[in-house]
Amino acid sequence: MKILLVEDSATLRYAVSLFIAEAGHEAILAEDGEEAMHIVDKTAVDMIIMDVEMPGLDGFETTRLIREMLGDHWVPIIFVTGKSEESDFTDGIDAGGDDYLIKPVSRVILKAKIHAMERIITMRNALNRANQELTELSERDSLTRLYNRRTFEERCKAYWRQANRSRSPISLLLIDIDHFKAYNDTYGHLAGDECIKQVATAIAKSSNRPGDMVARFGGEEFVVLLANTPESGARHVGELIRAAIEALGITHEASDTTSHVTVSVGGATLTNSNNGSTLSLMHAADQALYNSKGEGRNCVTVKQYIPLPKLLLLDRHTQTRLLIEKQLMSYCSLIISNSYTEALSTAQQQNPDIVVLDDDNTQEALNFCRYLEELDATRVPVILVTNNAEATQLATMEQLVVLPKPLDSRNLLANINRFLI
Ligand code: GH3
Ligand code: MG
Ligand code: MG
Ligand code: MG
Repeated sequence: MKILLVEDSATLRYAVSLFIAEAGHEAILAEDGEEAMHIVDKTAVDMIIMDVEMPGLDGFETTRLIREMLGDHWVPIIFVTGKSEESDFTDGIDAGGDDYLIKPVSRVILKAKIHAMERIITMRNALNRANQELTELSERDSLTRLYNRRTFEERCKAYWRQANRSRSPISLLLIDIDHFKAYNDTYGHLAGDECIKQVATAIAKSSNRPGDMVARFGGEEFVVLLANTPESGARHVGELIRAAIEALGITHEASDTTSHVTVSVGGATLTNSNNGSTLSLMHAADQALYNSKGEGRNCVTVKQYIPLPKLLLLDRHTQTRLLIEKQLMSYCSLIISNSYTEALSTAQQQNPDIVVLDDDNTQEALNFCRYLEELDATRVPVILVTNNAEATQLATMEQLVVLPKPLDSRNLLANINRFLI
């Protein structure tokens, strides 16, 4: 173990460091609290033996600062002090110490204390490892050891939050084993499982950039998320995967594609990641996969996915909704909310490109705009369609356009286009 010894007296520093070495550990020496903190910051020490009375930061103060610095990571700290009152002892424990030794330090007792702490450290390490293994186990699919679908979806959410404003391209590949039902029927379920394992390993090997994430999506289907990857890159990785599976040469006599196990790959690329979601990308990739199956399998199709701008509509009057639906269906994807509360939570989750409020209560509309601004600093444009004649004065707000009723559909379209293009 690496044991940090903090002691201002040169004589004691030397003596105790010899005890530490005799006990078979490495002593790292610090003359005062500041030096100790510097060492803890740079080096992973396993235990600290700390003098209490020192010039500058004393042992208690140093311990508090070190505990703060280490956060959840626990390192045992043993105080060594000339003070022997009971209250000194409790002060030491309160300051974050784990044990307390009175000077002069006996060599035998110090070694015994180090030994006892070492046992606790070993137990803590075993517990940490077990916890890590448990997390791993719940995140991964037991057959292939790839991430499972739940982990994939969770990580995608986190990824999207991060990439949301980065405007970098992102691609997703879906991989499906061809005629796999026939494989199971011919060779049995166990052989099927073995095949899935081999395919999984080959996929993982073919996409191993740091931004890549491979998961078993279910059954004989896999998914690969390729961060920062344009369409050409996705096609390249898709082709690598397809070729790698073919090269495995797993016999599949019942396949009418070849006499070997093959996969079909469908991919989709979103060039501007601030305008999409895993779900929509997945949907586009699934359509591409369907094409690959239709083209005779054992091939790769990657499509550019261009999402429609999202229009969030607060629907108060059927007439406006019908008009918008009729005029905008092919330009926008429409999200309809029936209340301001619902609209606000939808805005938060789905990042609409434009909001249309159909409401005569302009005060409510104004409150909504203010909340929206707080939610999203980039300011989503809002079009307010209203009967309220006084509402035009609201239009002094940036990003807000007020349109009177009856709604002129050309005017509405022109305004929507103005914001979206
Ligand atoms: P296609 O080329 O159109 O993809 O045909 P397919 O037979 O692969 O497609 P389908 O989706 O109809 O069948 C998938 C089969 O995969 C169904 C099931 O027999 C098999 N399967 C799914 N999960 C597992 C698994 O965990 N182990 C094994 N051995 N087989 C599985
Ligand atoms: Mg001292
Ligand atoms: Mg399938
Ligand atoms: Mg299949």
